[in-house]
Amino acid sequence: MNPIEPTAAQTAALDIAANLATVEAEIAAAARAAARLADAVTLVAVAKTQPAAVVARALAAGHRVFGENRVQEAEGKWPALKSAYPDVVLHLIGPLQRNKVRRAVRLFDVIETIDRAELARAVAEAGREEGMTPEIFVQVNTGEEPQKAGVFPEETDVLVAACRDDFGLFVRGLMCIPPVDEEPSLHFALLREIARRNGLHELSMGMSADFAVAVRFGATHVRVGTAIFGGRPAPE
Ligand SMILES: *Cc1c(COP(=O)(O)O)cnc(C)c1O
Repeated sequence: MNPIEPTAAQTAALDIAANLATVEAEIAAAARAAARLADAVTLVAVAKTQPAAVVARALAAGHRVFGENRVQEAEGKWPALKSAYPDVVLHLIGPLQRNKVRRAVRLFDVIETIDRAELARAVAEAGREEGMTPEIFVQVNTGEEPQKAGVFPEETDVLVAACRDDFGLFVRGLMCIPPVDEEPSLHFALLREIARRNGLHELSMGMSADFAVAVRFGATHVRVGTAIFGGRPAPE
């Protein structure tokens, strides 16, 4: 092997750093176009299905905010990575089952997928018992898709109020995943409007295909996986 050529691992390391830089630059450009500050948008690097060795490259490149969508998978890689990088901020972006609430509260700094009162109550109770103060986003099913998680738009105000007033949770904002076959900007605009009427200032919306649009519509958190880490194996 030519010693001047990078190894495969070095090439991949370069790619992740370069991909992060490209996505950050696109976020900054979209923010500028919308007369917003680029640092008002947090890039949540979605690491689901990526092994710890790959995530470590993003950490080595200086990135610190990550998203995972399964508690069990996150437990397999993040305790060690978090002790190596204590300033990591970990977001749960996938559906949360009642029986995993306590584990989620221990591991995640932000839970983005609160979509019903009983789940909010369980998160608040687990937070108290564990001495943690979980920060949450309420997930809104803006497309009212029956198979999808999230509270319906017209039920969101009641759930946000319950999270705050009944359970004492810190609601940072709202999160949505638009239907795949619809214009995402309609959903981003709807999420922004629901947030506005609830006095919420943070919006988690936009993925690899549409994060620049989401930034123009006010996203404060974009959740980007493929554009940083490349493709994922298809789920079984
Ligand atoms: C996987 C996932 C993402 C990232 O999707 P990409 O298209 O890979 O950027 C964002 N949000 C949620 C909720 C996800 O599950």
